[in-house]
Amino acid sequence: MYDENNIFAKILRKEIPCNIVYEDDTSLFFYDINPLFKIHVLGIPKIACKDYSDFIEKSDPSLRSQFFENIKIVLDKLDISKSGFRLVSNSGTDGGQEVPHFHVHILGGEKISAIK
Ligand code: 5GP
Repeated sequence: MYDENNIFAKILRKEIPCNIVYEDDTSLFFYDINPLFKIHVLGIPKIACKDYSDFIEKSDPSLRSQFFENIKIVLDKLDISKSGFRLVSNSGTDGGQEVPHFHVHILGGEKISAIK
């Protein structure tokens, strides 16, 4: 079940401020409060979905495609399309997800080491 009081739900309702990179009707992209890399942006869709599977189940194809097209807009705004970046989504307990609203991490601005 989706927790309406998770931090990203509060950010979407504008109850908690965030530093916005890009926003439209479908999604919001904002800087992570605790950046792990020189560039660390989070992207969230504007529907109540707790993780990746929930997002796929609850979204229609146009929302899904708009969300991923918006990631490209953000990459261009951050000027990291050419230099490279890492796109990560932690999902569920084993994935290490802390905030239960589906999100992607856009990481870049420096060389990121291999996962393994
Ligand atoms: P997760 O571990 O769920 O994939 O990542 C959650 C991310 O949300 C973490 O990187 C954390 O720093 C970030 N975060 C947690 N609370 C806030 C907040 O209030 N504002 C912003 N901008 N980021 C947050």
